[in-house]
Amino acid sequence: MNPSLSSPAPDAADTPLLALAGVGRDFDSGGQRVAILKDIHLKIYAGEMLAIIGPSGSGKSTLMNLIGCLDQPSHGSYRVQGRETREMSADELARLRREHFGFVFQRYQLLAGLSARENVEIPAIYAGTPDHVRFDRAAHLLQRLGLGERLEHFPSQLSGGQQQRVSIARALMNGGSVILADEPTGALDSHTSEEVMRILQELNAAGHTVILVTHDAKVAAHAQRIVEIADGRITADRPNEHAPALPAAAPREASNTPDKQGNTGAGLGAAFMQLREAARMALHALAAHRMRSLLTMLGIIIGIVSVVLVNALGEGSKQKILANLSSMGTNTISIFPGKGFGDRNSSAITTLNVGDMRAIAAQPYVDSVSPQIQSSVVLRMGNMERTAQISGVGEQYFRVQGYELAEGISFDAESVRTLALDAVIDSKTRDALFAKHENPLGKIILLGSVPARIIGVTAPKESSFGPPSQNLTIWLPYSTVMGRLTGSQTLQNITVRIADTAAPALAEEQITALLAQRHGTQDFFTFNSVSVRNMVEQTTLVMRLFISSIAIISLIVGGIGVMNIMLVSVTERTPEIGIRMAVGARQADIMQQFLIEAVLVCLLGGLLGIALALLLGQVIQQFLSGDFQIVFSSAAIVLAVSCSSLIGLAFGFWPARNAARLNPVEALANQ
Ligand code: ADP
Ligand code: MG
Repeated sequence: MNPSLSSPAPDAADTPLLALAGVGRDFDSGGQRVAILKDIHLKIYAGEMLAIIGPSGSGKSTLMNLIGCLDQPSHGSYRVQGRETREMSADELARLRREHFGFVFQRYQLLAGLSARENVEIPAIYAGTPDHVRFDRAAHLLQRLGLGERLEHFPSQLSGGQQQRVSIARALMNGGSVILADEPTGALDSHTSEEVMRILQELNAAGHTVILVTHDAKVAAHAQRIVEIADGRITADRPNEHAPALPAAAPREASNTPDKQGNTGAGLGAAFMQLREAARMALHALAAHRMRSLLTMLGIIIGIVSVVLVNALGEGSKQKILANLSSMGTNTISIFPGKGFGDRNSSAITTLNVGDMRAIAAQPYVDSVSPQIQSSVVLRMGNMERTAQISGVGEQYFRVQGYELAEGISFDAESVRTLALDAVIDSKTRDALFAKHENPLGKIILLGSVPARIIGVTAPKESSFGPPSQNLTIWLPYSTVMGRLTGSQTLQNITVRIADTAAPALAEEQITALLAQRHGTQDFFTFNSVSVRNMVEQTTLVMRLFISSIAIISLIVGGIGVMNIMLVSVTERTPEIGIRMAVGARQADIMQQFLIEAVLVCLLGGLLGIALALLLGQVIQQFLSGDFQIVFSSAAIVLAVSCSSLIGLAFGFWPARNAARLNPVEALANQ
């Protein structure tokens, strides 16, 4: 080592704050490794003010980036407070930048969308400083730099000198024990340059180490030590005898010294604060490109609208069908003679009888049972004559089928035993025979030639399928119909209501076994309302899944749109990423910011989609008949929201990772 290059340390006994030994930096240029910095030895002590001077292209900025841990040496050793930086991870380097270094750039590098105060606050956000501390400190620093009146001004509303003062305040935000200023006056007129240099001198006087890069000897003359660099090598390193005396009134406030004031570091609160700041930044970014954001969301919106609407329509039709089904009686198994509906031989089968019914009724899994035997008769009352359907049923029939009585009572076991001529009529028969105010109870009607007394009227019930039947129905005890009307001993069907605690499928199996044993052959078939219900549910589910999968394709297409626009956004905002990294953002912070932006786009799209779906649902409802309801389920809405957030996460991941992996120096240079 050339002894003439050893630095005149103020306190040689101390370890240097920053120590470069044999540092070189190579770049690939046109397929060749070019050595830009060669064998740099430099020791910088706390409290120095040092100017690095040299012609353009001599490697000053490259050296500055190495000192500021924005870049790493290709060879040699660089120690910060005795700690070797070579093996440090990207996040450890970010931490050094955050805690020790404050950058001041030639072109200020302020974020255009943020006010002066917000720009100054950025380093503290990444340090996890609480809101109010950050806010006050930023305001205080700006005041001290003479910008107290301009806290909420945007960079475009400030002069160059004012912007440079904002960037100095930003460098001081986390303490800034080492201020690195790369051509800080390069874009300023001579008067403003003087001002900025005086601020840097004052900061040095207050205890900050100041390292200054310049090609201008007049600017360098403000420093106490001048390092000359030419063609990547240090050619001189000398104290500056002509350095101006320290300003007499140098402010030596406590808050001016490098400190960790308010830097609470990690913790749940800090993490939440960073998340909130990132969300705020993301909203900023979205608002800056409203049209673009909306178009990006369109795919997501369409997908969400279809998922939510399809589910609401599907749920509506399912409920409609199930309501119809339950009008057939819930949890019932019906037994018919023959091999199935439409079996022409079924009328010849005469084995289904009252004994079967009693046997089934004795089973533990049975709630109630009713047989049915039907016949057509001429119904007469007074001089009125109508054709009616006679239905001979058991006393439990109305319970089995879920009928309600609007008037009177139904017959009981005693009526069945005594072949009573008690009739329950349906509401249509009542309307056909009686006026509204007339009381039908106790009236006698003629069924063919047999007189019967009306004891009850059923409430109207929704018909199962198809148009409501115009049949008039009259129910009598099955024993009465068999004994007094038809004379037949064969039942047309038996309907069993299964106990709520029993498994319908098992009950159906056992009834089948029981009857097959009684008949000696299986000359009957069963119809299970539960299995029909399951079938309906499955069919609507399959339909919904099918249409939803189409909607999901639209969501994926939307997601690709989001990814595309996020990639554009990362490219556009590369300088911003560079600035954030320079002030100490970790890779995870950058990643988080872009991920949140992607999720926010998708989430907003999802919410818009849900709103649109609800609106469209209202419109469709207007065109549908009254008894069909579109049913929006909260599950579908929750699903839609989580779906769109997930899409944001999935499709935002790659662009966000690209952003996080940018090299800070290259990102900063990119503008
Ligand atoms: P100064 O700040 O002294 O003007 P720089 O340190 O910016 O000089 O650049 C020194 C030399 O290194 C220049 O010739 C420049 O082209 C080259 N250089 C700087 N950065 C890179 C890079 N990332 N890749 C290739 N060459 C680079
Ligand atoms: Mg430069």
